[in-house]
Amino acid sequence: MTIPSDADARRAVPPVICYPVETLPAPDMAMLDAARATMTKTDEVIVPARDAAAFGVPAGHFFSITSVEGSQVGDLNLWNANDLSERFYSGKTRALHGTHITRGQQMWSSFPALRPMATITHDSLGWYGKDTFGGSVHDVIGTRCDPYTHNLLSGGQYHHCCHSNLTRALANHLGIALADAEPHIHDVLNVFMCTGFTRDTGQYFMKASPVRPGDKLEFFAEIDLLGALSACPGGDCSTVHSSDEAQCYPLLVEVFAPDPEALQNWTPPPPNGYDKSHDA
Ligand SMILES: [Zn+2]
Repeated sequence: MTIPSDADARRAVPPVICYPVETLPAPDMAMLDAARATMTKTDEVIVPARDAAAFGVPAGHFFSITSVEGSQVGDLNLWNANDLSERFYSGKTRALHGTHITRGQQMWSSFPALRPMATITHDSLGWYGKDTFGGSVHDVIGTRCDPYTHNLLSGGQYHHCCHSNLTRALANHLGIALADAEPHIHDVLNVFMCTGFTRDTGQYFMKASPVRPGDKLEFFAEIDLLGALSACPGGDCSTVHSSDEAQCYPLLVEVFAPDPEALQNWTPPPPNGYDKSHDA
């Protein structure tokens, strides 16, 4: 390998943020705080350990994911409830907001809509920040644990990875075949999961989640949502996943309706304004 004479100078070029977010329309957190102060619970779903459940959230309602019984991470998929082809876009959310998201940041949808699907309105783990390993919580780095990667790396058949759990939950919720549900499963928001990249090899790492029973991540539904949440077989993700070895706990999903008066100045975000002509 030939190292160029100006290698250090090239490495010393300072980075530029790919997508400065100063021009991104910011959610009105004061309005959302006023709305959440009026909200009343309308529904709840318990997600069993090593399994998943689906739930609906009308636009303008809130939903929360709460740790119950023990430290547990969750893998969240979101769809436009009226058009499953519009779904959470983990990669673009990461490009806009960084590797982990918290209160005031949004979950963005796939092309061509590319609009906020949900805004995080409360994060009881917001205090965690970034630890000395570069780890943080609620990542949009990881994909979801799945039986294909497990088979590739370890062989064998394991059926309770988040990918399979989400597939079963969506199929059951919509009354469709597993094979029809599976293509709708997509890269997740890793709720409560504590992750980062190792400094030396840049590898994706996980560590024991700081989540404790009572901790909660809450969202405002910007559009009509269908959600599915898997209580990952990795439990708190301190050791292993894709097996039944880790201690696992359920997660609680709750849906809340605010007083409509509190949202009288709010309208759901329209689909993205690009005209799709692609210079045709
Ligand atoms: Zn998982």
